[in-house]
Amino acid sequence: PAKRPFIRVPDESAAYSLDSFCIPAHYKNDLEEIVLPHGIVQDRIQRMARDIVEDHQHQPLVCLCVLKGGHQFFSDLFNEIKKLNVSAESSVPLRVDFIRCKSYENDESSGKVQVIGGDSLDSLKGENVLIVEDMIDTGRTMVKLVSTLNDYAPKSLRVASLFLKRTERSNGFKPEYVGFEVPDKFLVGYALDYNEYFRDLDHVAVLNDAAKAKYHQ
Ligand code: 5GP
Repeated sequence: PAKRPFIRVPDESAAYSLDSFCIPAHYKNDLEEIVLPHGIVQDRIQRMARDIVEDHQHQPLVCLCVLKGGHQFFSDLFNEIKKLNVSAESSVPLRVDFIRCKSYENDESSGKVQVIGGDSLDSLKGENVLIVEDMIDTGRTMVKLVSTLNDYAPKSLRVASLFLKRTERSNGFKPEYVGFEVPDKFLVGYALDYNEYFRDLDHVAVLNDAAKAKYHQ
């Protein structure tokens, strides 16, 4: 498929004051800045859905959600693809599955991950598969997951990540679909967590130091 462009979020903080948007009361003193308001995330996902549908030429697609962080993106992307499916003559039949990745302990070098949950990976044989992930940082998880899944001989295997971090730690892995290239900051919200907190914040944000200490484990 054609290379798809993405939105580059600059390093400088956006000019949103924290009281411009609604924030859950339990997090009201915890944020340093809002990097991406929920609305723009939604708008971007709408377009990513269109790109994905175009590229798969109305062939069946298996969407693999990488839990936990990917669940919100997955669910919104899935809804957008479903909307396209009922508004056009042709449509993309969808199957879903939910997995978690665990690195093999004491064996960083194996280059594979253990995939937990989900149906048997044998069912991916001959299918068009889309991995749906929240964030790519070093790229290590994704390189291993792609290599692991390729062993099951899918017809095609592509990756959609809502966020791609701009970092020197990157191993160069570039997903086919990226929502936003983001600065090298620790982000929370929109299902991204800090020690399991902030998944229930809609906006994508950076924590202040007090919150990092408060929710530290
Ligand atoms: P990688 O293997 O690419 O270094 O790591 C990817 C995983 O690290 C993501 O799936 C995500 O769970 C986690 N991660 C990376 N950066 C961030 C971040 O800024 N915020 C949160 N909450 N998780 C992150």
